[in-house]
Amino acid sequence: MKPSEQIKSEYKQVLLKAKLSSAILIISILPSFFINITDKTSFLGFSETNWDIVAICGGVTYLVLVKLLWKCPNCGNFPGGGWHRLNCKSCGTSL
Ligand SMILES: [Zn+2]
Repeated sequence: MKPSEQIKSEYKQVLLKAKLSSAILIISILPSFFINITDKTSFLGFSETNWDIVAICGGVTYLVLVKLLWKCPNCGNFPGGGWHRLNCKSCGTSL
């Protein structure tokens, strides 16, 4: 078992990567969202359909990245959602 200091510092890196993944998701969804809330039919020269595809790709990328990156440093399972998690829901280790 790793020392808790190491787990805490590794989990900070995990959260940072998870936040970057969320940023990718938000950025990919925004143009499609923008088109939907306004009466525009295109944005930056791309049609609504193009941006819907970008949003779907962003969503899939996000899910894949979360699955690959968002892991408990102790047990390797998903530790549970939320940015301020104190314990892994899988192994209960303090994060
Ligand atoms: Zn764990």
